[in-house]
Amino acid sequence: MRIAVAKETREGETRVAMVPELVGKLTGLGYEVAVEPDAGRHALLADEEYADAGAVLDADALASADVVVSVQPLSPQAVRRLKQGAATISFLPVNQEHSLVADLRDVGATSFAMELVPRISRAQSMDALSSQALVSGYRCAIVAAGMLRRFFPLNMTAAGTVQPAEIVVLGAGVAGLQAIATCKRLGAVVKAYDVRAAAAEEIRSMGAKSIDLELDTLEGAGGYAREMTEERARRQMELLAPYIAAADALITTAAVPGRQAPLLVTSEMVEAMKPGSVVVDLAAESGGNVEGSVAGEVTRIGNASVWGGKNVPASMPGPASKLYAQNIVNILTLMTRKPEGEGAEGGVFAPDFEDEIVVGACVTHNGEIRHAATREAIEGPSEGEPQS
Ligand code: NAD
Repeated sequence: MRIAVAKETREGETRVAMVPELVGKLTGLGYEVAVEPDAGRHALLADEEYADAGAVLDADALASADVVVSVQPLSPQAVRRLKQGAATISFLPVNQEHSLVADLRDVGATSFAMELVPRISRAQSMDALSSQALVSGYRCAIVAAGMLRRFFPLNMTAAGTVQPAEIVVLGAGVAGLQAIATCKRLGAVVKAYDVRAAAAEEIRSMGAKSIDLELDTLEGAGGYAREMTEERARRQMELLAPYIAAADALITTAAVPGRQAPLLVTSEMVEAMKPGSVVVDLAAESGGNVEGSVAGEVTRIGNASVWGGKNVPASMPGPASKLYAQNIVNILTLMTRKPEGEGAEGGVFAPDFEDEIVVGACVTHNGEIRHAATREAIEGPSEGEPQS
């Protein structure tokens, strides 16, 4: 069976879904690996490296593949070229991609969305949201350090002492904790806040101070946060305002699954920051944690420069691709049936639809939208389902 590695076509995407060093894992499972020429170019991975690793280079790889792997969803044109019954594995934000999901249904493709892989311990090695959040969190800290025109660490010299920078991090999930760890490694003083109770201990374990606002915590399902009420959001802003005003840099990474990012910081709160302050909003693309931040741009609010993140993992395509490719290898391994009988060769792509990881990640299969919320959003409530 053939796995195709797509060359990414969306603007600004520099990552690639498979790296040469992991091609051997797929051929080891019994697959032929076909790579579209130049697929790894932006991640500084040459076609020859894929060929040396045992892949074939094929400009028409997508049309002949049983499984197509990519970072971003395929284009509608690429979906129309898929072989009958082919499978796709990629990020696929189902809320924003209704037309593409309908196309995948109509061509009979089996599509899996990496965002939908359930957050259970067995699926940790396939969790691409976490692997890419790790890259984003690190990058946010480096961006803040690069933009801030002062030292992160304390410096005690013969010429005098320079105090360390004070950083506030809001949202201490995978990205936030990585941002905290990176700021600490650079020597800054870090304070952080998250709405989940479990986060306080994790913040402290990174050597940062956990900000306690004495508000109720918002633990949701699967280790995620719940949405705030308006009243709680207002209280949280009031209580956070003095911490933000005192910070040299503010890094925000807060998200609530399936929703717009919560607004945590008003432009008024940013205006109260000191001259030269820096704000890094990782959530800018999904609505922004900071009022006035713009994805992919640096804006000026009061005395602060506000950096809005846009496809942040793509700014470190090498490591981001390697981690994503490992997630892909792990999910493909789960979906591969080993050949039976002595001497039998070649694994078969045969996802087990009894497995909660397979079911959870599946968007379309056999001409149907299997992801219930997406099906309802696109096709309306089906008969027998209560109308809400
Ligand atoms: P995320 O990207 O959805 O959110 C980032 C952070 O923002 C979260 O920590 C959330 O609590 C926080 N947040 C949301 N609203 C906020 C608000 N109003 N104010 C401040 N903070 C707010 O989450 P994530 O980083 O992908 O994951 C969150 C947690 O889930 C992780 O820390 C981890 O404990 C858990 N997790 C579990 C698994 C697993 O079991 N397989 C995998 C990954 C993560």
